[in-house]
Amino acid sequence: MPSFASESAPEGGRSFGLNNDSSSPVKPQVEHRDTSPPEISLIPSNEVLKNSREEEEEEEKEEEKKSGDSILLQDDNENSAATATADTAADADAAATRSYKPSSSDMLYYYERLLPFKSIFLWLNHSPVPNNDFINREFAFEFKSGAYQRYNSFSSYQDFKQQVVKSNPTRFEIGAIYTLPPNKRKVLSNSKNVLKPLEKELVFDIDLTDYDEVRSCCSKTDICEKCWMFIDIAIEIVESGLKQDFGFKHLIWIFSGRRGIHCWVSDKNARSLNDPQRRAIIEYFDISKENVLRKPYHPLLEKSFNIIYNNKKNYFENFLKNQNIKNDFLIDKLKSYNTNESQLLFNKQSILELSNYLESNPNLSGFEKLSILEKFLPQSKSNINNKKLLQNLKDFKKDLVLFLLYPKLDLEVSKQTHHLLKSPFAVHPGTGNISIPIHIGFNPLTSALNLRDLINANEGLNKDNNTSLDLFQKSIATFDDFAKSIIKDEGVKKREAEDLLDF
Ligand SMILES: [Zn+2]
Repeated sequence: MPSFASESAPEGGRSFGLNNDSSSPVKPQVEHRDTSPPEISLIPSNEVLKNSREEEEEEEKEEEKKSGDSILLQDDNENSAATATADTAADADAAATRSYKPSSSDMLYYYERLLPFKSIFLWLNHSPVPNNDFINREFAFEFKSGAYQRYNSFSSYQDFKQQVVKSNPTRFEIGAIYTLPPNKRKVLSNSKNVLKPLEKELVFDIDLTDYDEVRSCCSKTDICEKCWMFIDIAIEIVESGLKQDFGFKHLIWIFSGRRGIHCWVSDKNARSLNDPQRRAIIEYFDISKENVLRKPYHPLLEKSFNIIYNNKKNYFENFLKNQNIKNDFLIDKLKSYNTNESQLLFNKQSILELSNYLESNPNLSGFEKLSILEKFLPQSKSNINNKKLLQNLKDFKKDLVLFLLYPKLDLEVSKQTHHLLKSPFAVHPGTGNISIPIHIGFNPLTSALNLRDLINANEGLNKDNNTSLDLFQKSIATFDDFAKSIIKDEGVKKREAEDLLDF
């Protein structure tokens, strides 16, 4: 039980002793009824999908001091390799800081010798023999110059490797499976046969910059172990929702390389979701538009509350120890609560008094802020036994726990089939970190796999320490197991379908 419970208890009990009843079964809100191909118009070939690359573009802006319109668009495969220039010297000492920008030659080394193209192929192809799931899949390349090249596609993993090596992009992204091989769209499309996105994994993007209003340890591009806990909570909640509420089985979490994670849900029925269904799922998880959470809580929120507040990992207690509750955030939430008559808690006067108190006591901890709230209830002396008011305060605190720590998702990335997302095993151009599979307990500061270290290990330059190579091999094994589990499932389904046909 969190130790702060008694600190905030007005009458010896747990004033924060919020009701943790989660007995009601969780039911999916979205059914996968419609598996017909989504009606999505053809994307103009020179369109930049800003939202899918929001995180990285923002970094580019910050790091490269480039303006957004410096992103050049290339629609053809020519000249792309020429945009990358070799600068081998700059990187040698930067690995220790884990913020080195890989040179073109390091990237080429990685593509030629290390990147597991076959693993990515198997994952996307859902079978060992190339089929349309891979052949019609869009890949986008981004180059050092900022050029972004869409509609690459490959006939096999050998072709995939060959073209990545030839183009040597700073990173590559994965888009949808289309009606045609995207690289042959100009030759093959006609009035009956146009390039349309058909399927893609359901993806989630969670980024610590979206936590700036609740984290006080870092802001913007900075991260530390303390705020990475938000990511652990997000993994736990989103994964349990996807598996238990929607029945998805095949999902993997991938480190984005700096301050976030991506989730790829690869089940067949996730890949064939149309855009409205994707929106419905993301909205199922999203509470960012709410000011006061509806009671009784939706089972997902009840379950999330238990994860945040009540499980062995002491997430909320750690949050209060490591962060603070920002005054603006607290006051804003109290004001929202106050607008709903049925939930009337604090009035204008009491909010003003609390606000002044917080301002004149800048060193209050999160624990202390929670425990003083009672004292600022309107006419608190006469109302201290007013059960309704205390119940409202309890509800407010429970909402507050969720507003502080519930996952903050980048909604746009998940909504559309044709959005692109950085590939697993791609390298973050700003840090050199490789996008490896991760799970709860990952520490981005000590457990990230950096390209510089990996190359050194592979060259035998750090003989005493092969942890990078070990980690790389383990990451590939984890990813391969993931791909194989999908293949196994779909193989079984295919055989079942064949048996039915035989019958
Ligand atoms: Zn931090």
